[in-house]
Amino acid sequence: MRAANPDAVALAGGTDLMVDLNFDRLRPPAVLDLTRVQELREWAPEDGCLRVGAGVSYTRIIDELGDRLPGLSIASRTVGSLQIRNRGTVGGNLATASPAGDGLPPLYTSGALVELASRRGSRRMPVAEFITGPKRTALAPHELIAAFVLPPAGGPQQFAKVGTRNAMVIAVCSVSLALWPEERRVATCIGSAGPTPLPAADADAFIAGVLDEHDHWASRAPLPPAALQRFGELAGQAARPIDDVRGTADYRRRAVGVMARRTLSWAWSELGRS
Ligand SMILES: Cc1cc2nc3c(=O)[nH]c(=O)nc-3n(C[C@H](O)[C@H](O)[C@H](O)COP(=O)(O)OP(=O)(O)OC[C@H]3O[C@@H](n4cnc5c(N)ncnc54)[C@H](O)[C@@H]3O)c2cc1C
Repeated sequence: MRAANPDAVALAGGTDLMVDLNFDRLRPPAVLDLTRVQELREWAPEDGCLRVGAGVSYTRIIDELGDRLPGLSIASRTVGSLQIRNRGTVGGNLATASPAGDGLPPLYTSGALVELASRRGSRRMPVAEFITGPKRTALAPHELIAAFVLPPAGGPQQFAKVGTRNAMVIAVCSVSLALWPEERRVATCIGSAGPTPLPAADADAFIAGVLDEHDHWASRAPLPPAALQRFGELAGQAARPIDDVRGTADYRRRAVGVMARRTLSWAWSELGRS
């Protein structure tokens, strides 16, 4: 049907699409309802990773995958309301590719691949290549997002989001962080403070150096406060925020730094307890 109807707009949960239809921003000639495609709603282990169908709702990610994908699950809990989480999908979040999409930064910190399918076959690409700009992706008109594929957590994962209120809110900015103790690696990604989710590569390299130098991975000793501070500063510098109705660029950069520091100390304490 996708191949036969290239102008049709796909509908998963409809929580982005229906807003566009209601506000008359979009008048597609046809809507392709994906909700009856059972394969899109399934998840399964695959070669040590998890392959999660594009149509798995946030509620199911929280309920069924919370232990294996804690970072994505914490982020999912901040999405909209219960009703939005029951309908909304990570596939829809990926296709919309909003810089504020809360499901996206955890995919970056886990090195997720996005699987695209069409009659010509399927292809997989890193999420950072799939998202090419604000609301822009590598999805071709004849393709659908079939799934995303990522390793289960190798250690503690965290997500923090600042909004203008506590719930039902678009992120002013967010931070996702994953510890990969076996690889002695920290992965941080910033949301809603740039045109796309932005990995904080310098901050990650800096803290990996500190952790290695003092063999913190083995001792799991508390992180030196000065290193946490510097990590936050470097994460803030990785943001490329703008001033808009939700917040100023300065505020976002500062909040990213604070959230980076906090998510790292939460994750590190959790590792120490494990
Ligand atoms: C009240 C409200 C609160 C919200 N709060 C948040 C929030 O806190 N955080 C957040 O990130 N988002 C939020 N959103 C936005 C929305 O819920 C998410 O982006 C959600 O992930 C969209 O998923 P969906 O399944 O509903 O997508 P849909 O609306 O069905 O589709 C969205 C887009 O993706 C395309 N699409 C969907 N599935 C596929 C597929 N398999 N292959 C190809 N294209 C596809 C559609 O054609 C459409 O362009 C909110 C929305 C509302 C209405």
